[in-house]
Amino acid sequence: MIYFRFLDIPAYLIAYIIISFFGLTIGSFLNVCIYRLQLEDPVERSLVKKSSHCPKCGAKIHWYDNIPVFSWLVLLKGKCRVCKEPISKRYPLVEGLNWFAYMLALTFLKVQDYPVHAILTALFFSVLIVIAFIDYDSMEIYPSQLFLIVILAVLSALFAHTLTIPQRIIGGLAIALPFFIIGEVSRIFIKKKYGEDFRGIELGDTFLMLVSGLLIGPKCICASALIGIFAAAIIGIINKAKGKESKFAFGPYLAFGLMMGSLFGNQLIDWYLGLLKHPDVYSMFIK
Ligand SMILES: [Zn+2]
Repeated sequence: MIYFRFLDIPAYLIAYIIISFFGLTIGSFLNVCIYRLQLEDPVERSLVKKSSHCPKCGAKIHWYDNIPVFSWLVLLKGKCRVCKEPISKRYPLVEGLNWFAYMLALTFLKVQDYPVHAILTALFFSVLIVIAFIDYDSMEIYPSQLFLIVILAVLSALFAHTLTIPQRIIGGLAIALPFFIIGEVSRIFIKKKYGEDFRGIELGDTFLMLVSGLLIGPKCICASALIGIFAAAIIGIINKAKGKESKFAFGPYLAFGLMMGSLFGNQLIDWYLGLLKHPDVYSMFIK
C-alpha cells in the first residue's frame, strides 16, 4: 500500500477527490457519446470536433455552464441560459451515475492492492453506462462499444493478472452460450407460432455477455447474469401490472447486473457455493 501523505491528508481522501474529478468529467463525455453516437449524420456523429450546443436553440454552452452536475443543478436549474427550454435530467443523471460507479469501484475493488484492475473496471462501468442508455433509446447495442470491452479485457489480461486465460475463455462462454441457445430456440418457436422473426434474447445482449465474461471471468459473469435477469424480471412484472408495453431493452438490466457482478460477483458465488456445502443444507438433500 502506497501512502501519499500530503499536508497529513490520508491517501484515500486524495484518491477519492481525484477519482471524483475523473468520474464527473468522463461522465460529461459519456453524455456526448450517448447523444451523438445515435445521430444519423456521420459528421454530426463526431465525438471530438464541435463544442457543446443547446439541442433546442443551438446556443453555444460556455464552460461555466458545462460543469458536471453543478451547472445543471445550481446555475441553470435545468433550463438553457438562452432559450429557457428545459435541459434533459439525463445529463446530470449520467454524470452522477458515472461518478457513483467510480466511487463503488474505488471502495470495493481494493484500489490500493489492485490499482490496474480497479481502473479498468471503472472504465468498463463507463462503457456500460453508454451501452445502457443507447440500448434504452434505440434497442440496439453497438459493436464499437463491445470492441472497447474487448480492449479492456486484453489490457486486463496483460497488466491486471486477476484471471488466467482459460478462466477468461470460460467466463466468455459461461453465459453467452446459453443466451445464444435460448435466443435460437426461442426464434424457431416464435417463428412457428407467430410467423415473426424475433429472438427471445437478442444477439447484442449475447455478445455483451461474451466480451464482458472475457473481462470479469466466470464467477462474476454468472452473478451478473443472475442479477440482470432478476432486475429485468422485477421491472417487467411492475410494468405489466401498470399495463405498459412488455417488449423492452434488456441491455440496461444486463449493464446493472454487470456492474454489481464485477463488484460483488466473487463473494456472492463463493457465499452461495459455501451455503450449499454447509452440513445443514447438505443434509436436506442427501441423507
Ligand atoms: Zn437553448
